[in-house]
Amino acid sequence: MDALITPPMPDDGVLERSMGDRVDAEPISRCERCGNHYDKAFSVTMDGVSHTFDCFECAINALAPRCAHCNGMIIGHGVESDDQYFCCAHCAEAAGVAGLRDRVGPHS
Ligand SMILES: [Zn+2]
Ligand SMILES: [Zn+2]
Repeated sequence: MDALITPPMPDDGVLERSMGDRVDAEPISRCERCGNHYDKAFSVTMDGVSHTFDCFECAINALAPRCAHCNGMIIGHGVESDDQYFCCAHCAEAAGVAGLRDRVGPHS
């Protein structure tokens, strides 16, 4: 019974620790928008290009498309017509693009 709750004790604890500390050996990732060095930075691949950011705000500001009508950042699904993006069907209609529906299954 005791064996079930015994935490795993890896024999190669030294090896695991050295892998976890590799941040010391490598340069910390740098946000390409604000320049912040952050060890928990993440990368986003868009159109085959990889971008590195320290937070979602930076990622959104750098990568989110803008509504062609209200210029708001499109963080949700948005709608698309030709090469134009709109934050919602209303903006698309206001910009003269007819027949677009919000492309959001879960909400409708
Ligand atoms: Zn940043
Ligand atoms: Zn809009």
